[in-house]
Order: sequence, then structure tokens, then C-alpha cells
Amino acid sequence: MPFSQLGLYSSIVRGAQALGYTQPTPIQAQAIPAVLSGKDLIASAQTGTGKTAAFVLPILNRLGPHRSTGPRVLILEPTRELAAQVEESVAKLGQFTDAKTVVLHGGVNLGPQRNALRNGPDIVIATTGRLREFLDSKALRLNTLEVLVLDEVDRMLDMGFIDDVKAIVRECPPKRQTLLFSATLPPRLQEVAKFALNDPQRIEIAAEKVAADTVRHAIHPVLDSQKIDLLMELLKRDEFKSVIVFTRTRKGADRIAHLLRVENHPVGVIHAEKNQTQRTAALEGFRSGKHDILVATDIAARGLDVAGVSHVINFDVPQHAEDYVHRIGRTGRAQSTGEALTLATPEEANHIVAIEKLIGQKIPLLTLDGFAYEGGQPPRVDAANPRANAPKGSGHKQSLGKGGQQKGDTGKNQDRKASGRPFGGGNPNWHSKGKPGAHWRTRKGR
Ligand code: AMP
Repeated sequence: MPFSQLGLYSSIVRGAQALGYTQPTPIQAQAIPAVLSGKDLIASAQTGTGKTAAFVLPILNRLGPHRSTGPRVLILEPTRELAAQVEESVAKLGQFTDAKTVVLHGGVNLGPQRNALRNGPDIVIATTGRLREFLDSKALRLNTLEVLVLDEVDRMLDMGFIDDVKAIVRECPPKRQTLLFSATLPPRLQEVAKFALNDPQRIEIAAEKVAADTVRHAIHPVLDSQKIDLLMELLKRDEFKSVIVFTRTRKGADRIAHLLRVENHPVGVIHAEKNQTQRTAALEGFRSGKHDILVATDIAARGLDVAGVSHVINFDVPQHAEDYVHRIGRTGRAQSTGEALTLATPEEANHIVAIEKLIGQKIPLLTLDGFAYEGGQPPRVDAANPRANAPKGSGHKQSLGKGGQQKGDTGKNQDRKASGRPFGGGNPNWHSKGKPGAHWRTRKGR
């Protein structure tokens, strides 16, 4: 069914067509008529499915000509990047309308945002913290609001924003349309739904579609001590165009980025400790192709839309299965194909079971030909049988002691370290320059 048959005005359909959208995606085909009907909505869909246009198009349709009465639409986003990205979508999809938009997020001065509010925007796109600052100082009132969009709500809950969300909902007029979008629908979300929505229509995009068909998954079993070597080797061998490397911690992201730069890879880093200018520069650098690699913590995993990401590499196995789906959702987007590689140690095997259950498929194990696995072969990473992962005389080291020493470290390995020769047989720089190898052998700070 074409967009024109969904009940949208031609100026709105032209906006979608200008972006090259010919057919609505499944979430759009279901959500657009639902939003146009004026009902509240709970919609779940994997990221990369066209979720943004599913609410932006019908909202633009509802707005009609610009009025300077006060904001009529509020879109809440969990992160600054998502807020900026949604603003861009609204600008593009609404290019044949005169809707005025303002984006409010932290990390930048209040002044320009305050001025933009004085221009009478129709749509406010905001993160919760900055929005509350404006509400508390009475620089913004929501009494003219007609539509409230709570986007990526599971992420907001994960980030501990539930009280902020509730406080903001309390500021909205009771007579409004509320749309709740979430990639997953955890039980805790029901609490928000009860609080904010009134007799909502529900749309769920089939669970088996949780991971896009366009993504090929693989697990690379490896010991913790060899992860960085394996990452470097993978980056050398495969057809990497544009790669996001995910790590669990900010420190881990910084260290990997450092080691990649030592190897002359153009790299951007994005995590919560970076300021807004650095985050924007990293993302822009990656989008424009200046950086082939973006190293990120999970802050970047949700909803970020970068075209042509060929590979997602999980430097560690995400502890929450949903995070895996979000991370790999950065590749294989909108018809292109992608690879999702996960480096997994025997200790991480138990998290794989939950991931395989959620995505409804077994992830194949791959080994890298010619890579000098410690002990002569990759370690056993058996999701179905975690006990089997114990090394028992295999020569593999499982746990890492303090000070970079593995328990039971052999004289052979000591020699290798002493000589600065990398375990993976690759570039000695990883271990010799600034002794990064030593960091990778300790658990502390990771
Ligand atoms: P989203 O899930 O909103 O982040 O969208 C993911 C990507 O799909 C974005 O690059 C959109 O521009 C693109 N997209 C959204 N709707 C369509 C459509 N109907 N046809 C083709 N691409 C689309």
C-alpha cells in the first residue's frame, strides 16, 4: 500500500517521497492510521524499521499550518543524539510544511534553546533533564500540548529516567494523545503505560523479526587476554567499510580507541563521559566517512541511524539480550546487509543463551584461520552447556589475576610478554607502545 492511501495529506506524502520512501514499512503501515485516528498507542518495533517516520508523518499531518500558540507536540528522547536525529527527520519529512521545531538537550548552553522557544515552535523534541530545567524555570509550559510522544521508553527506564518522565507527563494537559514507542516491552513499561496512556491501541511487530534478516551473526570464541589481538586481526582481514565496535564500559571504549589509533585506524569514540561537542564530532566523523570505526558504549546502541554500517563488533557479549539486538540493529539497516561479530570468552557463554533465545536463532561459532590462539585452538564457548567451558587441562586460561597476570600463567607466556611479542602474532605495537597489552590482561577498570 502506498503512503498516499494511509490518509496523509499530499504535502506530507511528498516529504516521505523526497526521502526516497516508496512503500511504508510494516510499523508505518500500522502506526500511521492508528495515530491519525487520535487514539493513544503503544508500539513495539525493532530499531531500524522506520519507527521515527511512523510517528512523525501522522503528527505533521495533524498539525496543519503553523500556529504560534505554544508547543502542540512534545517528543521525549532518552539521549541527545536521538533527539538531534529525530529533529533531522522532522525537518526532512516536514520540508513541505511550515512546522517549526526546537530541540532541547543538555551539554550545550541554555541561551540559544531559550531563544528558539520564544519563536513559538509547534514541536519540541527534548531529553528529559533539559526539558525539566525549562519547565522548572517556567521558560516553557506544556498547557497547549496536543500530542506527547515517549520514544525509546525501555531505554529511558534503563537510564533511570522514570521519575523525570512521570513528572513531565504530569505537566501535560490530561486531554491529549500519547504515543509510546519502545523496542522492547519489559513488564516495568506497563507502569509507565498505565500512568501516561488512556485505552491505548497496541502494535507489536512480530517477535521473530527482533533481529533484522539482513544481519549475519557470528561468535568468535577467544580468551580475554587475546580479545584485542583478535579484534585487530579481524579488522585487517575482513571487508570492513564502516564498523562500530561496542564495549560495555567507557574506559574500555577509550582504551580500544587508543589502540586502534596506534594502528592508524581513523576512529571516533562516543560514550556518556564525552561532552556534546565531542559526541557530535565523533558521530559526524563516522557518518561522513572520516572515521572508519566508531567505538561506542551502549549509549549509541539505541536508534542511531548511520547508513552503510557494514559491521558491528561486540568486543564483549552484552549482558542484556536486548542490548545485543540494539547494538546489531546499527547494521543491516533499511535494505542493506551487515555482519554482527561478537567476541566471546568462555565466561561470557551464559549470556549467549539469552541472546539466541531472543533473536530466535543459533549464532554460529567462527574461528579465524591462521590466528595464533593461545593453547593452539580457540577456547570452548558453549552457550548450551556452560559447564563444558571449563578449560580442564586444555591449556586455556580462564580467569585473570591482578597486575595483568593470568592465574597459572606459564613460563612460556611470561616469555612472550617479556619479549613484547603479541599473542596473536600481529603488530607488536599493541603490547609494546604504552603497554596497552597489560591493561587487557587485568579485569580492573573494564
Ligand atoms: P528508524 O527506525 O526510524 O531509525 O529508520 C531507519 C531507517 O529507515 C532510516 O534511515 C530511515 O530513513 C529509513 N526509512 C524509514 N522509513 C522508510 C521507508 N518507508 N522506506 C525506506 N526507508 C525508510
